[in-house]
Amino acid sequence: MMTAAKRIGLFGGSFDPVHNGHVMLADAALDELSLDTLYLIPTAQSPFKSDDKPADNASRVELLRLAFAGREDCEVDEQELQRGGTSYTIDTVRDYAARYPDAELTCLIGADHVPMLPQWRDVDRLAGLTAFAAVPRPSGASVDFPAPFRGRWLRGAPVNVSASDIRARVREGQPFEHLVPSTVAEAIREFKLYAY
Ligand code: ATP
Repeated sequence: MMTAAKRIGLFGGSFDPVHNGHVMLADAALDELSLDTLYLIPTAQSPFKSDDKPADNASRVELLRLAFAGREDCEVDEQELQRGGTSYTIDTVRDYAARYPDAELTCLIGADHVPMLPQWRDVDRLAGLTAFAAVPRPSGASVDFPAPFRGRWLRGAPVNVSASDIRARVREGQPFEHLVPSTVAEAIREFKLYAY
């Protein structure tokens, strides 16, 4: 009997810090795409962000581990941190494609990134190796994924939060605990992250 191809989700980001919007996207993908495993992949340096890194790598990883603790279908992969430098999705996707040649790969991205995909590195090879998935913004119409990318809109309920919003709230002493898993909120306080 043939076994079904393994379905692997790849979710990269700064995760500085991980928040409920990320958890929602992860849950929607695990459920709707029937993923076998979702890998959470913190970036060393995003090509789209300035080189300021509010929290160090070890703290970002620890927050991610706390957010997805006890979930056997989620794993943190530190390969981009180990490679260092600017993190390009194509490099990580090629690594997974080489290690799991029969798997179906899907990269999870925020809705805002969808129209920008043609600007990512190595478009044709990237589009050939992986599909994409996103949750539409509350207001946003779900536009088609730009060619040559294969993409799918998920039904998850959008959470209006960003990591920069959380960092600003911590810095200003505003409540932020409702925007992150409780274990992550405790760790942000314990490690004194984002506070000046
Ligand atoms: P920042 O505010 O610092 O730019 P961020 O909240 O966008 O950070 P990232 O770690 O850069 O967080 O995001 C990783 C991925 O998750 C990106 O593809 C991003 O678009 C997506 N994402 C971020 N926030 C949300 C959200 N609220 N809902 C769904 N996806 C999100």
